[in-house]
Amino acid sequence: MNSFKARSQSVIPGGVNSPVRAFQSVGGDPLFASRAAGPLLYSTDGRELIDFCLSFGPMILGHADPEVVEAIQTAATRGTSYAVTTEAEIEMAELLTEAIPSMDKVRLVNSGTEAVMTALRIARGATGRRKILKFSGCYHGHTDGMLVQAGSGVAGIASASSAGVTSECAADTLVTPYNDFEAASAAVREHGADLAAIVVEPIAANMGLVLPEPKFLLHLRELTEKAGALLIFDEVITGFRFTFGAFANLCCAKPDLITLGKIIGGGLPIGAVGGRADLMDHLAPTGPVYQAGTLSGNPLCVAAGLATLRKLKALDPYAALAERCARFTDEIRGLAKAKGVEVSIPNDGSLFSMFFRGSEPRNFDEVQQSDADAFVRMFHGLLENGVYLPPSAFETSFLSVRHTDAVLERALEAFDRALAF
Ligand SMILES: *Cc1c(COP(=O)(O)O)cnc(C)c1O
Repeated sequence: MNSFKARSQSVIPGGVNSPVRAFQSVGGDPLFASRAAGPLLYSTDGRELIDFCLSFGPMILGHADPEVVEAIQTAATRGTSYAVTTEAEIEMAELLTEAIPSMDKVRLVNSGTEAVMTALRIARGATGRRKILKFSGCYHGHTDGMLVQAGSGVAGIASASSAGVTSECAADTLVTPYNDFEAASAAVREHGADLAAIVVEPIAANMGLVLPEPKFLLHLRELTEKAGALLIFDEVITGFRFTFGAFANLCCAKPDLITLGKIIGGGLPIGAVGGRADLMDHLAPTGPVYQAGTLSGNPLCVAAGLATLRKLKALDPYAALAERCARFTDEIRGLAKAKGVEVSIPNDGSLFSMFFRGSEPRNFDEVQQSDADAFVRMFHGLLENGVYLPPSAFETSFLSVRHTDAVLERALEAFDRALAF
């Protein structure tokens, strides 16, 4: 039926360049995209889908935003890579450090994975320590040490970590449950002298959406301060999601380092790591922590990122997005209730996710106690009715500024049909 499926699988492992795209945890044929515009994704078999996956987060302005497209086109005519610093890179760094008060200096890299990898290397280089504490269900990219209880894409596959990661590598990663104050305290009590950093998604969005309990992030700040370790906020999803800046801007706990990605590249590959100047100056060429990239600060990526960020600054869409997302999820809750379907829908800003269980999960264990079969039924029901959610119960859904009331009204009709099971 789908000629792309066999073709892709014969030459690309699993037919995909990133595992979740294979639809393994929802079953059925994966999508093949032909184009996208605003809130809509078009498949090669002629479907028009309201897109709540939005490339897993970068497309907060919607697909093919005209200003972003023009910025990329203009940049491309001037050459696609120089490996020589440009004024646009300086502007990007100025914009990021102005928008995020706790970020004095920032370096651009090519992905969120690289950003976290670099942040951890800085933490180890600056402290001379080896261990990192992360939380189960939080995803920090696919470097060896972070592939330990890493949520979403990994959770859809049987094992919690990955083959090919040495036990030595995994041994330096401590893992405790998200929102568990005492478990984090105990880990720091036992390993504090070896602890380089705690890395956390300040809003966990890679096991579905799990919000931090009040003071959890502050607790981590106090623990790291006492242990002489760094606090790293992985803001690859949350950066420029809730305000024009990092989630850290809104949070009582201030991290030492912040990683960014997704939104700041406007749909082109990018990542960034930034923070206190004394820490960032550990990076080569000023310091001994090596990090490099042939395509880092690529002019197309920076142009797309700058255009996206400037438009976000001008639009300031955050309050409207949050209000619209809250109303939308309220409507879905109402539909589910009318049908007697037990569902909890955490939402914050433009993020929401659906768990088929009675209460909002606080950690990855509770996430896994939701009814995954119900999610699969709803996912396919939505797909048949013109709505595309991220293809996993462990992913978060996104709204863009192009998800207008009219678009959401149409989506609700699909939810109404898809929840009839
Ligand atoms: C997406 C994501 C990453 C990885 O970013 P890539 O660009 O996919 O490498 C890291 N951390 C968080 C919190 C993410 O959401």
